[in-house]
This record gives sequence, structure tokens and C-alpha cells, in this order.
Amino acid sequence: MNEGEIETMEKFNIKTHSPEETKLLGEKLAAFLMAGDILCLNGDLGAGKTAFSQGVAKGLGISNTVTSPTFTLINEYEGRLPLYHFDVYRLGGPEDMEDLGYEDYFYGQGVCLVEWAERVKEVLPGERLNINLFRGSNAESVRSICFEPVGSRYLQLVEELTKLVCSRN
Ligand code: ADP
Ligand code: MG
Repeated sequence: MNEGEIETMEKFNIKTHSPEETKLLGEKLAAFLMAGDILCLNGDLGAGKTAFSQGVAKGLGISNTVTSPTFTLINEYEGRLPLYHFDVYRLGGPEDMEDLGYEDYFYGQGVCLVEWAERVKEVLPGERLNINLFRGSNAESVRSICFEPVGSRYLQLVEELTKLVCSRN
């Protein structure tokens, strides 16, 4: 790999069969999170972005009820690490992120979870973990969740998650 080149790996795909299973996946990921991590969630309405976020919050030791911050745009929680939960669905575009003061969050001491991240991709850090959620076409409660790490930190994060998920005990 050339110096300066951003490392990416094969995507890691997993299927879940219930909202609880999606939350559990988020909870497992949370165990490995560090300050400054950026998780970008994409997928249609009802894909499970908020369900996954609820699991991450639980895994960080946050006991508050986590809901989509669709109108508030951002919610902050205190756990093992601070969690900054964005939902940028209603933003006009990246320029509105400036008004939110996003840089203090993205380059701060907490974990950022961004629902509908694709909508503001211009301001997202190059290195991040993209998590894409898809509804299965026939089964109502099946979701395909695709982890796409960009950068060595996120490669490591996904490797840790896959080891945990793939181990039987
Ligand atoms: P989003 O934030 O992407 O709009 P939500 O997490 O708010 O999505 O909603 C997901 C909806 O899909 C919930 O009503 C949930 O009960 C339902 N659901 C069914 N199966 C799953 C699954 N496997 N994972 C996550 N949510 C699921
Ligand atoms: Mg949501």
C-alpha cells in the first residue's frame, strides 16, 4: 500500500432477523469504540439506523431512551464515552452542518453516530466507518447490515467486531 493511501477492506455483511438482533450488534460494536470514532449510518426510513444506534448507546452504558433526533438534529448522551447522535435527514445540505458546529463533535472526545450521513458526505471525515442498512425484499424483519471501514482505525474496529460476532462463545 502506498504511503498516504487510505486503507479499505472487504465489506463485512451480516443479516439480522429482529430489531433486538440489530441492537445487539450495535451493543457489541460499542465495546470497541474509542473517542473520536465516526460511525455513518445509511439506509432508508425504517432500515434500522435508530435501532442500531440504541444498541450502541446501551453498549456505551447509556440508560436514557434513544430516539431519532430528526427534529433536534443532534442529541448528546453521557456514557463510558460521550455519544453524539445526529440525524441529518432534514438538513438542506452540508452548509447547515456548519450552523450545528459539527466540527466540535467530529473532532471531539466522543463517539459520533450520524443517521443519513450520505446527505452531508462533503463534511464527513475521510476515515470513518460506513454502516449501510438494507431491508430484505420479502421478509419483513430481515435486515442486511454492511460495514465498510475506511482507514486503519476502522479496519481494526471491524476486525474486532467480526471476531466477536463470528466466535461461538
Ligand atoms: P431508521 O432509523 O433507519 O428510520 P428505525 O430503527 O427507527 O429505522 O426503525 C426500524 C423499524 O424496523 C422498527 O419499527 C423495527 O421494529 C423494525 N425492524 C424489523 N426488523 C428489524 C431488524 N432486523 N432490525 C432493525 N429494525 C427492524
Ligand atoms: Mg432513525
